[in-house]
Amino acid sequence: MAKKGKLTPMMQQYMQIKEENKDCILFYRLGDFYEMFFDDALTASKELEITLTGKNCGLEERAPMCGVPYHAVDSYLNKLVEKGYKVGICEQVEDPSQAKGIVKREIVRIVTPGTNISQQSLDDEKNNYLMCIFASDGSYGISFVDVTTGDFRTTSMDSLAKVRDEIFKFEPAEIICNDAFLISGMDFDYLKDKMSIVISSIEPYHFDEEQAEERIKRQFKVGNLEGLGLVDYPMGVIATGALLGYLHETQKSSLDHLMHIDAYETSEFMIIDSSSRRNLELCETLRDKQKKGSLLWVLDKTKTAMGARMLRNMVEQPLVDKKKIEERYDAITTLTNQTIVREELREYLNPIYDLERLMTKVSYKTANPRDMIAFKTSLELLPAIKTILEECKDPLLSGLREDLDPLEDIHDLLEDSIIEEPPLAIKEGGIIKEGFKDDIDQLKRAKTEGKQWLMELEEREREKTGIKNLKIKYNKVFGYYLDVTNSYKDLVPNYYIRKQTLANSERYTTEELNQLADTILGSEDRLYALEYETYVTIRETLAGEMERISRTANVIAQIDAMASFAYVAERNHFVRPKLNVRGTIDIKDGRHPVVEQVIPNDMFISNDTYLDNKKNRVAIITGPNMAGKSTYMRQVALIVLMAQIGSFVPAAKANIGIVDRIFTRVGASDDLASGQSTFMVEMSEVANILRNATKNSLLILDEIGRGTSTFDGLSIAWAVVEYISNSKLLGAKTLFATHYHELTELEGKIDSVHNYCIAVKEQGDDIVFLRKIVKGGADKSYGVQVAKLAGVPDAVINRAKEIARELEEHDLTSGAKDIMPYGEAEQLSFFRESDEPTMEHPFMAELREKDLSDMTPLEALNYLYVLQEKL
Ligand code: ADP
Repeated sequence: MAKKGKLTPMMQQYMQIKEENKDCILFYRLGDFYEMFFDDALTASKELEITLTGKNCGLEERAPMCGVPYHAVDSYLNKLVEKGYKVGICEQVEDPSQAKGIVKREIVRIVTPGTNISQQSLDDEKNNYLMCIFASDGSYGISFVDVTTGDFRTTSMDSLAKVRDEIFKFEPAEIICNDAFLISGMDFDYLKDKMSIVISSIEPYHFDEEQAEERIKRQFKVGNLEGLGLVDYPMGVIATGALLGYLHETQKSSLDHLMHIDAYETSEFMIIDSSSRRNLELCETLRDKQKKGSLLWVLDKTKTAMGARMLRNMVEQPLVDKKKIEERYDAITTLTNQTIVREELREYLNPIYDLERLMTKVSYKTANPRDMIAFKTSLELLPAIKTILEECKDPLLSGLREDLDPLEDIHDLLEDSIIEEPPLAIKEGGIIKEGFKDDIDQLKRAKTEGKQWLMELEEREREKTGIKNLKIKYNKVFGYYLDVTNSYKDLVPNYYIRKQTLANSERYTTEELNQLADTILGSEDRLYALEYETYVTIRETLAGEMERISRTANVIAQIDAMASFAYVAERNHFVRPKLNVRGTIDIKDGRHPVVEQVIPNDMFISNDTYLDNKKNRVAIITGPNMAGKSTYMRQVALIVLMAQIGSFVPAAKANIGIVDRIFTRVGASDDLASGQSTFMVEMSEVANILRNATKNSLLILDEIGRGTSTFDGLSIAWAVVEYISNSKLLGAKTLFATHYHELTELEGKIDSVHNYCIAVKEQGDDIVFLRKIVKGGADKSYGVQVAKLAGVPDAVINRAKEIARELEEHDLTSGAKDIMPYGEAEQLSFFRESDEPTMEHPFMAELREKDLSDMTPLEALNYLYVLQEKL
């Protein structure tokens, strides 16, 4: 790039600032534009699709340049930030008229993906996190904040996998870290390319332990870290310190709205690893990353943005503490029993403004008078909400009622001070209500009376001079003047002072008009200044009450989330689960919460599930493609998840043993596969599961071992089942869907393994899916029938049948057994599991019981047929 020496002074100033902020695109303020130069201009013109021009910069070649108008800067800035750039806003910081030489300029704020506060570009229902990660010797500290809501959390952990889980859980927009983290082995490509996270390391001095403590104490106004509960999280403390340092460097404004930090333990929550999070489609769908079609889509019927963010957080972090979960159940029970209370609450919640993001605006001094009115209207609803909550006797809701500060004083302040329909601008008056401040009222009167005085003066002059159409007018350049059209020019008296001559008229002033104008304009200026000052004081009063407001916002968010759970439970016929710590999962008539919504006319078929830590640890599930295996397995995982989120569940009855983790290995469609073979990805996921699952985990395994030869695949699947089901090795509750029918032989060999299949009915050449899970294994795959259903041409189908027949004839051992209906399957397994040695054939007993004398010969013959069928 250019040598500084030859550059014009302005470009020298530009280069200087740019050099100190190399990683930013610099928006350099020049008049009414923000200009970009050199490489920044090349990048921005391409990304923003704006014209690239050039500017003489003192060098031979003109500097590439492009610019955006200051009044529309937000949309351009957001576009760049959303694409992952950091933008430094460089403003003039002295009055140009006072400047000696080039006007002084400074960076006033650096906007990064994790610190963007523009409402335009943020999703109301989602947090926008900036995360800081500190890595050292295999330990990690994580700290993250949403600067738009003040949500600030930290923790420490001892493995990279856990760090990864937290990243997937909170999906930060931006990660900053120390250099050690960059070489930790994290798959950064995935985070950058697939999750669009901007990742950068920041200078080592940020990660100084002592400084970190100091910064935290200053930020949260505490004398030591004990009060904040941070002492047990030394790594988290360093990450938090670095995060605060980065915020101070980039935001350069008050961070007063960041008042709390929560230290949390990852073990307080169910662990859901990153691929399970995606597979189970908790907050977005796997295919098109939409909320629609996800669990959150079913559960989120909140009314406020705060509630929506709270509920999303709950879905992302299912609990493991029975008492805490049951508190949520109690609240939901209250709100499903008292529907009127709930619906009234929801109606009052509906118009409530995003108090958390308003606080940020107050802190950044960008809240305008209309924000204040929206705020006031929200506060108006709080006392009613508090009263309604008196009806709710459960501990969670009554606790929330107690914590709900209706902020009446703040409401009254806004009610008394700000007019109902104020302008957006804060420097042009018209904001403060009459009666709030005497000085303002007086100045306002001067302003209106001034108008009267002007009219009187105009009338007097008209009479005095005889100029019939004499008018007093106003413009910004000349102020007030007397307008005389050319036809009356001769009547102008000599005490009129000429100001300006136009084609058709002349403009004059007089001593008296000058004096009057001074009074009027002076009072207007003073009025505007005083209104502005008063407004700023009100805004500062709010800033001083931020703690109370944020607590109330949190209470509102929780009430909203609970009301939403209750509303959804009632509408979708969910039931309150029971919880146990024995590890038994017993679901009667369970349904898939999302699939049942998209299947028309209540056609979803419900199914039971029984798993425990003893005899029923592993369920091997067979059945043809499309039968509903993966729907069933996901349904079980989602019901357990929902139960631990604190929500009611889609079932007739459910008793859920709290699980510590859910792992899923579903399908082979993973886009993690980039660069690795599908089989390799599958195996590394299996490895991860077997290493990290515990006996209290729930495993959902679909088609393990499919990506290799049948022989290999079957051997791996077999070994995995043996490992999982053995309580000395792993002993986790597992649903295992497979195409390897051979695996059904494990039932009987291993105590805790049982076979299930999803029933289908043969109808001539076709099959009908019954969607019902029954005991027993399916021996037939019905692949050809499913292919036919899918529309494969008849010629292929017929040929496939021929081949299948031939193959079967050669392999006489694999006789196809019909799928057993539920009752008979039970009976058969009873015979098989019986420990008593059976000397006679089971038909003997039946024969012995039969009263033959009571039968016609035909009946006897038929009976023989039946017996023969059963053989
Ligand atoms: P598999 O995993 O056995 O190939 P899926 O679970 O993908 O089958 O199910 C195939 C389709 O069947 C699903 O898309 C769904 O529409 C339907 N389905 C599955 N389970 C049920 C059910 N219990 N009730 C009604 N329809 C179902």
